[in-house]
Amino acid sequence: MVVRLYTHDPKKKGGRDVSKKDYYEILGVDRNADEQAIKKAYRKLAMKYHPDRNPDNKEAEHKFKEINEAYEVLSDKEKRAMYDQFGHAGVNGNGQGGFGGGFSGFGGFDDIFGDIFDMFGGGFSSSKRRNRPKKGHDVKTEVRLTFEEAAFGVDKDIEITRYEECSTCHGSGAKPGTGSKTCPKCNGAGEIRYSQRTPLGQFVNVRTCDMCHGDGKIVDEPCDTCRGQGKVRKRRKISVKIPAGVDDGSVITLRQEGEPGEKGGPPGDLYIIVKIISHKIFKRDGYDVICEIPITFVQAALGDEIIVPTLDGRVKYKIPEGTQSGTVFRLKDKGIPILNGHGRGDQYVKVIVEVPKRLNEEQKEVLRKFAEVMGEDVHEQRKSFFDKVKDVFGI
Ligand SMILES: [Zn+2]
Ligand SMILES: [Zn+2]
Repeated sequence: MVVRLYTHDPKKKGGRDVSKKDYYEILGVDRNADEQAIKKAYRKLAMKYHPDRNPDNKEAEHKFKEINEAYEVLSDKEKRAMYDQFGHAGVNGNGQGGFGGGFSGFGGFDDIFGDIFDMFGGGFSSSKRRNRPKKGHDVKTEVRLTFEEAAFGVDKDIEITRYEECSTCHGSGAKPGTGSKTCPKCNGAGEIRYSQRTPLGQFVNVRTCDMCHGDGKIVDEPCDTCRGQGKVRKRRKISVKIPAGVDDGSVITLRQEGEPGEKGGPPGDLYIIVKIISHKIFKRDGYDVICEIPITFVQAALGDEIIVPTLDGRVKYKIPEGTQSGTVFRLKDKGIPILNGHGRGDQYVKVIVEVPKRLNEEQKEVLRKFAEVMGEDVHEQRKSFFDKVKDVFGI
């Protein structure tokens, strides 16, 4: 990424440039704002208009430049005094009272941003940043669990592939016994600066050195094992204790089990995402277990003791006579153990009355007789429904 550090129009010599916006206005601060207030305003705006947050947004890019220019002046006591007295000409031009060649870079810029740049996910080029210890990459993987494993927890061996430090060169990338030399292209800076004249002015650009990729050093002879990378891909088996109560999509984090850090930084983390294989009988709702049990209409009418499968095995449950299809029973504490907590959810059992199909003639005859004996009045809901129909239609 290229960052424009400075814009300066060499054609403008002194004089108040009325086309330029007021620096205080740009930062949205009072003329007698103190250092802290200016810094605060700047950080807020710079975060908002940072190019990494606004890719391909010309307006944001322009704003970002303006903000930086304003801060460059207002954060410097001398420049600010000059600006207060002479306006833009005092700090920006080549004329009398100015600062000769204008600005040469952003003093203090990196310091201000050092702590917040990581939020942008990298990309900002600066030698300080490049040499800072970097945390290794995180590794993500999935683990598939049965319903019961997720409910009660399990010890699992999972296999992952990750980069690990090369044991031959210990991460240096150099063949053992050989050294490294300063990169000839950037003279060890890891970055290349160059200025560019354009119709809009002069830009000073900074780019990561493509020869050493920002390291500032290149090895004499690359390590054979890792071909100079300093790291190798390894397949690893990792034991992980899955706690009781994890759900589909839960993430288990193993700190520092990711890839090695750079320049003394810590290793990344390993994220294990839980996938639960669907169960033949049970469904899950948070910590509750849901299941449906078909019963015959005779069982529903007369009541019965039915066998209910639970996570702890089969239990007997007495359904009362006259149970309607769709009735839900609760079995307390027969659900999933609470993750990192105490107690368990419940199990909900929905009974579904199954209407028999493909009856033979004898069975049908029995049912016809049954219907005769029953009459209409014993079906309360049906009776009340048809009473309502009569009300609605008048027949
Ligand atoms: Zn190596
Ligand atoms: Zn280099």
